[in-house]
Amino acid sequence: MEHPLIQIRDVTKTYRVGTGLLRGKRDLKAVNGVTLGVAKGEVFGLVGESGCGKTTAAKLILGLEQPTSGEILYHQRPTASIPRRELARCVQPVFQDPYASLNPRKSVASIISLPLRVHRVGAKAEWPQRVAEIMAVVGLPPRLAGSYPNQLSGGQRQRVAVARALIMHPDVVVCDEPTSALDVSVQAQILNLLLDLRAELGLTYLLISHNLSVVEHMASRVAVMYLGRIVEESPTADLFRSPRHPYTRALLDSVLTPEPEKGLPETHLGIAYPNPIAPPPGCTFHPRCPHAREICRRQPPPATDGDRRVECHFPLQ
Ligand code: SF4
Repeated sequence: MEHPLIQIRDVTKTYRVGTGLLRGKRDLKAVNGVTLGVAKGEVFGLVGESGCGKTTAAKLILGLEQPTSGEILYHQRPTASIPRRELARCVQPVFQDPYASLNPRKSVASIISLPLRVHRVGAKAEWPQRVAEIMAVVGLPPRLAGSYPNQLSGGQRQRVAVARALIMHPDVVVCDEPTSALDVSVQAQILNLLLDLRAELGLTYLLISHNLSVVEHMASRVAVMYLGRIVEESPTADLFRSPRHPYTRALLDSVLTPEPEKGLPETHLGIAYPNPIAPPPGCTFHPRCPHAREICRRQPPPATDGDRRVECHFPLQ
């Protein structure tokens, strides 16, 4: 990939967290040396269990958090040097729970126009027209402009959230679990809407999800995150056909449950997800890995190069 639209270079995000009354504070590396590139027009999937660091990665890309080390480039410019307002025009979020992310006391029109007001985009007189246009784009009837979130269905609320993101005409939309709060019957509508909008508006998506079916449906490339690191990155079709990291294999096996829409509740790995404050030494996956050997307990595995990256001493063939 020559010049990715978004480039994450060896980014780490560390928080100081309390570990109990008498034990003081310790470092938690929510993101630990992540390197990724997202090409223009691509849907890039980021998957992993709850607490793996994918939402922190989203906040870093959105500029809501700053990396502890490393850098994030947008159009080859470090995001740290881009004014917050300018970055917000270009990179917008769609969050998981549309009900929680929409102000219940504001009308649909007011919610959708909020970014224009906050970032003082265009003339105020133009805002109603822009709201009407973007409502049409996301399939919201004009009569809903004066409605409130509690008068809408779950799918309509998520369309409002998408419209609010798109009214800024961003290049990149960071979708953090965009359908996991929705009924299964509505999920496909929203995912297909996002795909249509990508084609129509030339958008680039970073799609964060614990639901592998969603990522398989949407993304052209996918990265698998475990304890703050990318353990495998690959074209989606290759990853689903022949995963190379044992953790990816376990995630795919977990989809073969009677309720795949519930995501990744069980990885069939037996041992619980490790405490990120005290990650295991060596390969952090080794306590759960059926293929672990002595070196795995001592030495972090290097990442391979190329189109299919994997961090494992003994990748699956
Ligand atoms: Fe398993 Fe070892 Fe590979 Fe880690 S490095 S995933 S423990 S085989």
